[in-house]
Formats: sequence, C-alpha cells, structure tokens
Amino acid sequence: MPAEEYEKICKQCGVCCLCKMDLRPIETSTMFLRVHCAHLDVKTKRCNIYANRFRLAPDCCKVDMNIILHSDLIPDSCGYREYIFGPAKNPAVVDLENTCPENQVDFDNPYEILSRIINESKNWTQR
Ligand code: SF4
Ligand code: SF4
Repeated sequence: MPAEEYEKICKQCGVCCLCKMDLRPIETSTMFLRVHCAHLDVKTKRCNIYANRFRLAPDCCKVDMNIILHSDLIPDSCGYREYIFGPAKNPAVVDLENTCPENQVDFDNPYEILSRIINESKNWTQR
C-alpha cells in the first residue's frame, strides 16, 4: 500500500502516544496511563515532530504490521486494527487534554504512576 494511503488509515486518536505500563503479571494486558508523549499536541492529537520522530524520539515505534498484529501497544479501536479486524468492542476514549506530558511525571514514584493508570484501558486490547 502506498505510504500516503497507509497514513490515511490512522484515525489520529492520539491513544498510541500515551505512555503504557506492562502490568501483565497482575492485569491481562498493557495498561495505558493518563500521561502522553511530550511531543503530542493534545488539542490537534497530532505529533509535533512527526517527520523526524524516530530521530528525535528514539522510544517512538512505527505502527507497522508487527505492532498491529502482535502487540498491545495500540488499542483495538486503532484505525489499523479496525481496518484488519473490524470495529473494536471497547473503543478507547480518552480526553487527551486531561492527560499530562511525560516530562512532568515522576516515573520513580509508584504511587504517582498507579494513580495515573486508565483502568478502562485493560479492555482496549482484547483481540
Ligand atoms: S514522537 Fe510523536 S508519534 Fe511518537 S509517541 Fe511521541 S507524539 Fe506519538
Ligand atoms: S492508535 Fe492508531 S489510529 Fe490512533 S493515532 Fe495511533 S496509529 Fe492512529
């Protein structure tokens, strides 16, 4: 598929740009946090550095087939997953303007991190 067509499948929900925690020994899936990548514009839900993201944000992953088919880093309601599997049972709904940028969060403080878990997110990746 041409790159331009592929990009159009993204719904620009911004959910994949939320930080996540792997709590699988306790929970059934990766949990999403009310914390977003510092490069996300929460009003437009667009990445501020999109063209250069892999150089400027080394933790950023391309949403490729491996991520779409085999990871729980994106919700089932991601446009790419819905393109393949159809509509999600539990669409991810997040008020991004009520999330905070990762550079304002103390990731060493487990209480702070636990308080930022989006509990509904355990139902976002069930395929
Ligand atoms: S660099 Fe851009 S695309 Fe990557 S996680 Fe951050 S906001 Fe999202
Ligand atoms: S989760 Fe999927 S649809 Fe939403 S912004 Fe990320 S790639 Fe696009």
